Amino acid sequence: PQSKLPNLGTTIFSQMSALAQQHQAINLSQGFPDFDGPRYLQERLAHHVAAGANQYAPMTGVLALRQAIAEKTGALYGYSPDVDDDITVTAGATEALYAAITALVRPGDEVICFDPSYDSYAPAVALSGGVLKRIALQPPHFGVDWDAFKALLSDKTRLVILNTPHNPSATVWHSANFDVLWQAIAEREIYVLSDEVYEHICFDPQGHASVLAHPQLRERAVAVSSFGKTYHMTGWKVGYCIAPPMISAELRKVHQYLTFAVNTPAQLALADMLRAEPDHYRQLPEFYRERRDLFINALKGGRLELLPCEGTYFLLADYSAISGLDDVSFCQWLTTEKGVAAIPLSVFCADPFPHKLIRLCFAKQPSTLQAAAERLRCL
Ligand code: PMP
Ligand code: GLN
Repeated sequence: PQSKLPNLGTTIFSQMSALAQQHQAINLSQGFPDFDGPRYLQERLAHHVAAGANQYAPMTGVLALRQAIAEKTGALYGYSPDVDDDITVTAGATEALYAAITALVRPGDEVICFDPSYDSYAPAVALSGGVLKRIALQPPHFGVDWDAFKALLSDKTRLVILNTPHNPSATVWHSANFDVLWQAIAEREIYVLSDEVYEHICFDPQGHASVLAHPQLRERAVAVSSFGKTYHMTGWKVGYCIAPPMISAELRKVHQYLTFAVNTPAQLALADMLRAEPDHYRQLPEFYRERRDLFINALKGGRLELLPCEGTYFLLADYSAISGLDDVSFCQWLTTEKGVAAIPLSVFCADPFPHKLIRLCFAKQPSTLQAAAERLRCL
């Protein structure tokens, strides 16, 4: 068949994880923990399976889970979404992003995103016939040039996609960014898709700034979260999104024919977890800060230059003192010759990316990080 996505291959995450496996390299490429999530969560999953909760969940998500999400959101962001109208449980954040983009973007609509950007946005926009306008952010701070942003707005602009804490740059937005965004789009009918899957992995003293804490913006926004990141269970693929009723109604039209509903026993287990240990996710910044700092310290003395890491479980490193290779070739060489797999930054950008940056995932056991750092220090 004639491809609808002719320029798209297999994702860099699949490619690099496969290469890592093939060469038995330490895999710091695809973002996933090499340790398990809470035992209690696993026990509750087994319990619900044994108790027979094995049929379809409600289309919008198991009620107990939506209630727990509403409470958690209220406690964190001072805004309690409506359990029935605003919260939709999805098959990971990936499905929420896809459903939101498909529901909001019509053929010819313009969508603004910030490069480097997570790889699932562009294909979803393309399949909806949208036109992606990318604003290139520059290392090391990857700050938004708001004049450039305003200059891109037109009557065709329909959606802005943002991500904080940001994969892959490991930078975060502050509430002031949301204020500027609101001022820029208030007079236009523009929606916001806020990918906040790393909301609990934020090291910035001001904490995570959610679009849900902004009273005006949240009326136009879809906020996306993922239990995969929060409970170290990326394979469970349960996420959710929060949006006002008019937007939720539209994205549910997509969700109901994309997956209809999400894994029932996993949703029940997550509801139990949120109720039994409501503070679990509050330990995450400290948990990941320890790993980040251990890794940074273990890399000292090497020639990689590390960029600031304000959030996510990714660390960026500049390798220009080590090699003149482009970043894709460097990551292949690093995996096959030096036994550490990483992700090249240029794959997240549409324009040529002139920097020599790689992304290293530190959601790993201390022993894994030490072993990887030993190899990286010798480059
Ligand atoms: N958005 C970003 C920025 C991510 O990094 C990821 C996954 N790592 C996702 C969305 C997808 O999350 P999920 O695995 O829950 O689909
Ligand atoms: N989001 C993960 C990352 O950035 C990968 C998810 C995937 O493999 N699709 O590494």
